[in-house]
Amino acid sequence: MAEVTAPRKKSALVVLPSTNYHRKRKIVHLVCFAIFLLLPLSNLMRFDIPHQRFYFFGAVLWPSEFAIIFFSLIFLMFAIVVMAMLYGRMYCSYLCPQMIFSEAAATFQTSVTRKVNKKFSGMSQGARKLISNAAFFSVLLVASIFLAFVFICYFVTPLDLLHRLLSLDIHTAGGVAGASTTLFTLLDFAFVRQRFCTAICPYGYLQGMLADKQTLLVRYDEQTEKCINCKKCERACFMGIDIRKGSHQIECTHCGECIDACSEILGKLGREPLIHYSWGDTGSQSGAKPTWRERTGLRDGKRFVVLGLLVVYACALYISIQFRQPVMIKVVADRTNLYTIDGAGLIHNSFRFMASNRGAKGAQIKLSAVDMQGAKVVGIGDDILLRPGESTQQMFDVTAPVAGIEPGVNHLRIVATVAPSQGKDEFPVTFIAPVDTTGEGNKK
Ligand code: SF4
Ligand code: SF4
Repeated sequence: MAEVTAPRKKSALVVLPSTNYHRKRKIVHLVCFAIFLLLPLSNLMRFDIPHQRFYFFGAVLWPSEFAIIFFSLIFLMFAIVVMAMLYGRMYCSYLCPQMIFSEAAATFQTSVTRKVNKKFSGMSQGARKLISNAAFFSVLLVASIFLAFVFICYFVTPLDLLHRLLSLDIHTAGGVAGASTTLFTLLDFAFVRQRFCTAICPYGYLQGMLADKQTLLVRYDEQTEKCINCKKCERACFMGIDIRKGSHQIECTHCGECIDACSEILGKLGREPLIHYSWGDTGSQSGAKPTWRERTGLRDGKRFVVLGLLVVYACALYISIQFRQPVMIKVVADRTNLYTIDGAGLIHNSFRFMASNRGAKGAQIKLSAVDMQGAKVVGIGDDILLRPGESTQQMFDVTAPVAGIEPGVNHLRIVATVAPSQGKDEFPVTFIAPVDTTGEGNKK
């Protein structure tokens, strides 16, 4: 007999659309992953340890430019600190590589387990677990090798690293670093994951110190009679916590997954979610028609000042990188012999010339001696050519006739003219002449 079903009563309930912070976060994660790949592979950022260079957004910095390297790194840290002050744990949940890969590993493992359970439903639970673990760890091993490869590309040229990898080089420092990074990555994303955030990473504690009453966080509205205690928010949380116990739990990265969960379940009952993004513990909810200042988090003067400082810092860094001298030159006196006198009666003082071309174009350097009568530079080419990235160190002499200069210490300047771009570098030096100007000094 055909089953007769009673017609469903038309419900007056309006289902509210749920929030979708999960989707937004996954899009940001994808963009971050692309940036993570592109930065070292495109030379935009790398500490090239074998070649002792720091690639930083188009500039190639040398160890001799340590101050710029140092301030570039401090700038990146400052940017993260400013972000913590304005947007709380947004860095953790949206941008941090540890979080991105931990979530991806957890999601992938759940998906593999579900598929294996479905496909091999006739097998015992132990056998299914074995198959899903084998599949998960095989893929994770390949992913770990790839991630370790990209990570080490932040310190070694990709082609060099690829060559070492293909020749199974695990004897040298690079090989050992590659093997240990792969192992570390595998263990991290298989077993540690978000435990790293609470057990090791200091950022959560730092954020606690930087946050104030206007910092963005995720807040639960304590209206117990409205909460249906479904615990969906707790189950959705990657960090395994219950947001209803407070917004300032150290584990909470303010990712918004619990907001999605609550808005989905309560939305079906036609109710607003009980969990929101909020500017501080008592601030307005982010969805309450905010002004542009509120939307961007610039809610008071302190935030404008901090952001202004960040912009000034970025400009100063840009100027110092763009206007640094591409060719670094040094001239120092070599006092192995104070002076020598050659057969033609000329006094010689020896100097050491050092130059490095840190720019992207070739350079031509010419040395001359000024401010001392009859002084000449000898023993070095008229034009010293330096290709990009090349360094040189050479000895040269300054000569002067005995007649016409003061006995003892004389002063002059060595001028290095750099073509095509840099102009002139000047080095004040001393020139030692014999006190006895009869010329019976250290004859060559
Ligand atoms: S409590 Fe909510 S916002 Fe905090 S980590 Fe868990 S899901 Fe994310
Ligand atoms: S998802 Fe919302 S309704 Fe369910 S327990 Fe969490 S706060 Fe309460």
